[in-house]
Amino acid sequence: MAKKPSAKRKIRCYLCGRGFEVSTKTMSTTCPGCNRAIKIEDVLVKSYVPVNELQTCGRIKITKRGRVAARQIQSGEGIECDGAIDANIETEGTMKLGPKAVWRGRTLQSQSLAIADGARLEGDIIVPWTRAEKDTAK
Ligand SMILES: [Zn+2]
Repeated sequence: MAKKPSAKRKIRCYLCGRGFEVSTKTMSTTCPGCNRAIKIEDVLVKSYVPVNELQTCGRIKITKRGRVAARQIQSGEGIECDGAIDANIETEGTMKLGPKAVWRGRTLQSQSLAIADGARLEGDIIVPWTRAEKDTAK
């Protein structure tokens, strides 16, 4: 009996922009482009999270009580926010802001944007945005 091929997921490194495939079960990996460890799992924020950087190739969801205070947030597959974000945002997915969502930052760059009535945004918005693949060949 042939073994079923494991499901693959297409991702793009948030550090260098290299696209590659990983198993859907992979939570983190080393990027073949920049050789750095990157996170792939989805992130759920349910409380106050002060960090320097919040990065994943997956999705980020911020619930009503969630609040992220960071220098930068990078997500490969999109961000859904019902809470608050104080950070610059880069996502190759959709940036979704719920009716109570608040975003404050210098720039918000996303592939597409979905803003509910009532959401508050303060900063520069650049849409649509796609990460350019950096030339890592030396
Ligand atoms: Zn990389």
